[in-house]
Amino acid sequence: MRPPLTPCLICEKAVVYLWSKDQSERSTNLNSASDVKITAWYGSSFDMNEYQAVICDDCLDEAIQKRRVAFVREHSPFGE
Ligand SMILES: [Zn+2]
Repeated sequence: MRPPLTPCLICEKAVVYLWSKDQSERSTNLNSASDVKITAWYGSSFDMNEYQAVICDDCLDEAIQKRRVAFVREHSPFGE
């Protein structure tokens, strides 16, 4: 699901979409930004809730450099 237009989670810089409508189910087409999905489980006050946000490329790059975000895998543009 495409998230509503939102500022960056960290720096609050405005993030816009490259196209007005989704081009596919997998892509939100954010301009120099990425989707963030947060899932809370047992132990969190937000247990069982899921949240969606946006992080700009500059803030994601900084978080990766500071090892606050871990690389998991690269997705194929052609599916799994
Ligand atoms: Zn940012």
